[in-house]
Amino acid sequence: MTRQTGIDRRDFIVSAAAAASVLSLDGRIVFAQSKAEADLMAKGFYTFKVGDIEVTTVSDGEWLKPHDPDFIKNATVEETKAALAAAGLPTDNVRIPFTVTVVKTGGKTIMFDAGTGAQLAPTAGKLAANMAAAGIDPKKIDMVVVTHFHPDHVFGLMEKDTNAQVYPDAEIIVPNAEYAFWTDPATIAKLPERRQGLAKRIQATMPKWSNLTRIDDGAEVAPGIVAVAAHGHTPGHTTYLVGSGKDQLLVLADITNIPALFVKNPGWHAVFDSDPQAAEASRRRMFDRVIADKAIMTGYHYGMPGAGRIEKDGNGYAFVPLA
Ligand SMILES: [Zn+2]
Repeated sequence: MTRQTGIDRRDFIVSAAAAASVLSLDGRIVFAQSKAEADLMAKGFYTFKVGDIEVTTVSDGEWLKPHDPDFIKNATVEETKAALAAAGLPTDNVRIPFTVTVVKTGGKTIMFDAGTGAQLAPTAGKLAANMAAAGIDPKKIDMVVVTHFHPDHVFGLMEKDTNAQVYPDAEIIVPNAEYAFWTDPATIAKLPERRQGLAKRIQATMPKWSNLTRIDDGAEVAPGIVAVAAHGHTPGHTTYLVGSGKDQLLVLADITNIPALFVKNPGWHAVFDSDPQAAEASRRRMFDRVIADKAIMTGYHYGMPGAGRIEKDGNGYAFVPLA
């Protein structure tokens, strides 16, 4: 079934469960959030294969972010609402989901980032329940591979009141460039006030963790899993390539925030990007790589299934979810 929106009559919206794509009259590819995606959000996880590797995306819930003129530096709230509507999403706020990627390979269970730890939005903090639903035992996580140190990615490593480690028996892999930035005592004074508490918390915890390993760009963190630096969102933001035979998964973390806004408009600069120009260059480079390599990608803020393919779409890109 296709229908047209009142926002942009040239945009045809596909509301079928299948993630079919259609070209609008001006050649852009448009997707609506399908019923399948909403059902998966309620279910809380999605499992698929990349070569021999079992991959599960697990929802940690979402943040219902109020509209804010400072959210996107070069787009207005009205443009933001129009882009949400064109993607079939509610426009009353910006729904920012959190989605952790877990892979089982070589007898190990490896998780990329650790969720919010139920310490951010009240509508988040669902990772533990959804991991249980997916049959993933947090005590059996062998490795947590971190992409960057923003709270929604690392607070899940730290208990709320004590800062005790949530995964003391797992190896914690962190990018060296990210670690060096956040643990430098001089960083605190350089940060905006809203980020200073984060740097203090990192400095009070991670340097004491004997199970933490720092890695550089290009490091193989586990068999078939290689770090690919994609700096800009943060000084050390790092993506990971998971290969199995000829099949590839790229764990792209925060290469963009939600796809309805930032995959379609890769030139839009969210307030969360510490170096917007570098973040945009990394975004385009990694998307072009996903396309060239016919890889599957996961995005931390892509909701459910949180995994799919990227296509070129005019001056931007389109995210084609796996389900
Ligand atoms: Zn994030």
